[in-house]
Amino acid sequence: MDYTDLGQGVYHLDALYIQPGVASLYGIVHNHEVAFIETGTAHTLPHVQQFLTDLSLSPEQVKFVIPTHVHLDHAGGAGVMMQAFPEARLVIHPRGARHMIDPSKLVAASKEVYGEKVFDQLYGVIPPINQDRVIVAEHGHQLMLNDRKLTFVDTPGHAYHHFCVVDQLSAGIFTGDTFGLSYPNLLYENSRFVIPTTTPTHFNPDLLHQSVDLLMSYQPQKMYMTHFSVLPDPAAFVDQYHEWIDHFVELAEEVKPKEESDLEIMIQKMGHKLAHSFDLSEHTIQNQLAMDIKLNCQGLAFWYQHRDG
Ligand SMILES: [Zn+2]
Repeated sequence: MDYTDLGQGVYHLDALYIQPGVASLYGIVHNHEVAFIETGTAHTLPHVQQFLTDLSLSPEQVKFVIPTHVHLDHAGGAGVMMQAFPEARLVIHPRGARHMIDPSKLVAASKEVYGEKVFDQLYGVIPPINQDRVIVAEHGHQLMLNDRKLTFVDTPGHAYHHFCVVDQLSAGIFTGDTFGLSYPNLLYENSRFVIPTTTPTHFNPDLLHQSVDLLMSYQPQKMYMTHFSVLPDPAAFVDQYHEWIDHFVELAEEVKPKEESDLEIMIQKMGHKLAHSFDLSEHTIQNQLAMDIKLNCQGLAFWYQHRDG
């Protein structure tokens, strides 16, 4: 299994969603207890089990399974993980809990987007989770992994069912999608960069700006990003990230998407703007960012069409 020891008991694992380098999950190992933040999909589970074996940890030592929100690249593996880890409790945002207890709506909506066959390839089975094993984490909720404190903060903007997890011990935050996307292999002027993920259907720029500021108020030294891996020194990226939230909003306001053909125009424009701004090749755009760009434009179009005023 491919995993990286990030120090202070935090391990990065590649969820192997679609291809390597797309989605992360994290294991926190602390005084013989384990928490997983994010789950990948059902297909990720064997890799997670191998990780435990490699560290001589038993399934019973897994105490918490913590998806940051219920989008399936984050929470798709929660059900099979809960089956595999009998002592674990699922920790989830108040607005996501019902979708984990009864995932039928989530599954149906996703099958509508992808079709049955692609859905199975991407996500596999999504079993329901017994309500008795679910901890609903409101804003400010604190959880102890043995004597390690994890604090949950409500961070709408990418999704209304999104929280982030502040880990005091490592001075890091597990950010899910709230701090955007940053792929370690993509550099501009020898530095990483961060772009928003505005996936349908909950993107809300005002709330996202606020959530980012809330995260920074904890003065994190690193962000444990889901897409992808750890981002050191987030204070160095936060202004640039705020600007790109605004750039995306301006793009939607410029195109005023109404029809399918408008979506294509947005996709083109976003690709060009990213390529130009960060000196990315057409090959990189097509091979690494095409899916993010498409989802971003779909989410921006949905936001534009449903916003007030
Ligand atoms: Zn998401």
